[in-house]
This record gives sequence, C-alpha cells and structure tokens, in this order.
Amino acid sequence: MSTERVVLVTGGNRGIGRAIAERFVAEGYRVAVTARSGEGPEGTLTVRADVTDAAAVDAAFTEVEAALGPIEIVVANAGVTKDTLLMRMTEDDFDSVVSTNLGGAFRVVKRASKGMLRARWGRVILISSVVGLYGSAGQVNYAASKSGLVGFARSLTRELGARGITTNVVAPGFIETDMTAALPEDTQAEYKRSIPAGRFATPDEVAGVVTWVASDAAAYISGAVIPVDGGLGMGH
Ligand code: NDP
Repeated sequence: MSTERVVLVTGGNRGIGRAIAERFVAEGYRVAVTARSGEGPEGTLTVRADVTDAAAVDAAFTEVEAALGPIEIVVANAGVTKDTLLMRMTEDDFDSVVSTNLGGAFRVVKRASKGMLRARWGRVILISSVVGLYGSAGQVNYAASKSGLVGFARSLTRELGARGITTNVVAPGFIETDMTAALPEDTQAEYKRSIPAGRFATPDEVAGVVTWVASDAAAYISGAVIPVDGGLGMGH
C-alpha cells in the first residue's frame, strides 16, 4: 500500500538505517535521514545531526519539517558499540554508548513528539537489540542502553497511547552490517551456531518489519518488543 507520510530515520547513511530508508522510499513515503557523514539512499533528504547533541537534532527536525512537512514516523536507529569487559570499561565507554543509543532516542523522540501530538497520529520505532534482553559478555554498556529502550517505549506508550501514537521496539539479532563485520571470524561462527536460523540476517529483513510497524496494519500494536533474530532470543 502506498502512502505519502513523512518519515525520519536516524543513521540512514549505512547499515540497517539505510535499508529502512530504502524500504520506506520504495513504499512511497517521503523520507529524510540523519547522517553524521555520507548521504542517505536515493530519494531521501539527508540532514546532518549527531544524536548526542540536542541542538543539532532540533535543527535537523526543523530542516526536514520545512522541506517535507511534519514528521509522522520516527525511527531511532543510530547506535554504537564500545565493547569491553566491565573491569576494563571506562566512564567514557559507558557514557558515550548510553548517550548515543538511549539518550539519542530520547532527544529524537522528544522532538518528534511535538508534531505527533499536534497531529494526534504518530509512529515511534526504536531499534534495540536481542542483546538488550538476552545479555552479552563484554557489552554491559550496549545492553543497558538497548534494554533501556524497552522501558522508554512502554512508558511512552502509557503517556501517548491515547493520542493515536504507537511506540514499539524492534530488536534485531545479528545483521550483516559494519557493526557485525567488526567481530572476529571465530566469534561470528560461534554466534551463528547459537542462532536457530543458522545465519545472520540482511538489513532488509529488519527494514521490512519496521515499515510494517509503521503501517496502518500495525495500528493496535504499542509497547511491543518485536524480535528479528532468527530465534536467538526466544522467550526473552
Ligand atoms: P552501523 O555501525 O552500520 O551504522 C550505525 C549508524 O548509526 C550509522 O549511520 C552512524 O552514522 C549512526 N550513528 C552512530 N553514532 C551516531 C551519533 N552519535 N549521531 C548520529 N548518528 C550516529 O550499525 P548497524 O546498521 O548495524 O546498526 C543500526 C542500529 O541497529 C544500531 O542501533 C544497532 O545497535 C542496532 N543493531 C544492530 C545489529 C547488528 O547485528 N548489526 C543487531 C541489533 C541491533 P555515521 O556513519 O555517521 O557513523
């Protein structure tokens, strides 16, 4: 089904965010992406923003609103890892990951909520991770930021659920992007053995779920955590 709704995807220049932006374009949405570097896919408007900077996020929204109109769907996708064992983790390793992954979602969704409240319609989609509920040695910063998104989404559902706004979490497992390419090969092989599907997913397999959550078909789904993980996190 084609729609002209306006979407903003953070971190839309590469990886999962780029695939999400491409899917929205293919389905007829008007799509903007934020990027610190590079450009979004063809057919998107690229605006510069670092999600750790509230003023930059505000300016990016203002630019998109001027060009495309009020943002109706926001996908908080921008994220980073800084993996190391707790004993070696610095204050900065912890703070920078939480400020990007969880704080970034806060800044972006807070700014987006203004227009959504006015329109009494909105879709908030937060890209978490299987690791947020499953846990992962060497990722206490990342996992804490990703499980934080679940509490965020469920609280926002209670705040804004009666205003036509849904908030959901999409929790990917292992997806073929720069983030997982950085893992050593034996670690990748070990992960693959523990995934019931026996493989990693493509970014587009996450994107299809995100566009579905944004669609009218998912109007009554809110506060949900939707896994896209080949069965890795079953039961969590
Ligand atoms: P990539 O490393 O390929 O891309 C990360 C994206 O986030 C880039 O667009 C990057 O922009 C952007 N970004 C990072 N920090 C900031 C910042 N401070 N401000 C603005 N943008 C920023 O990651 P993936 O595509 O793999 O991951 C996307 C999301 O999916 C992340 O939230 C990640 O945690 C999550 N995820 C990924 C999984 C995977 O297996 N790949 C599994 C589960 C969840 P720039 O190019 O400018 O650095």
